[in-house]
Amino acid sequence: MQGITGTFIWYYYICRREVWLMSRQIVPDQQDENMDWGRFLHEQAYAREKKEVAWESVKMDTVTSKQGELVVAEVKKTSSYLKSATMQLLFYLYTLKIAGIDARGELRFPEERRKEPVQLDAAREAELQEAVRQIRHIIDQDVPPKPEKIKFCGKCAYREFCWA
Ligand code: SF4
Repeated sequence: MQGITGTFIWYYYICRREVWLMSRQIVPDQQDENMDWGRFLHEQAYAREKKEVAWESVKMDTVTSKQGELVVAEVKKTSSYLKSATMQLLFYLYTLKIAGIDARGELRFPEERRKEPVQLDAAREAELQEAVRQIRHIIDQDVPPKPEKIKFCGKCAYREFCWA
């Protein structure tokens, strides 16, 4: 998993071109309102109970449940990117598992008043490992994958870069 972050996993399931752009530190539009709102949510939602923990290249928000188990919680603005959010959270759980730490995951969508449990299992672990292999392959390329119009382009902070 070295060098691979949850952010790469997130982008991989949305757009592979974004993976390459992020890997080259090509910074998206910081003024983009979607990014600002995402940052605000990350900082404010569940602020009282969460604790940000850094583990190798991974940063995650953890909370402890009433039963005393470790829960890795990921706060998202919307459930529209559910696959990305789920795989990103599974990546955190897998990173902890490698270190011998058992945890369960919880996706939180405060605007939708919704929570989704996320559990690591063998099939999801295999999918994650394949994603990591693919991400490494993308990053190794000298040029980014060509842009493809997808439904997420309209809200992507790279849209000016890809389609101006
Ligand atoms: S604008 Fe579209 S093609 Fe370009 S990085 Fe974003 S999602 Fe990918």
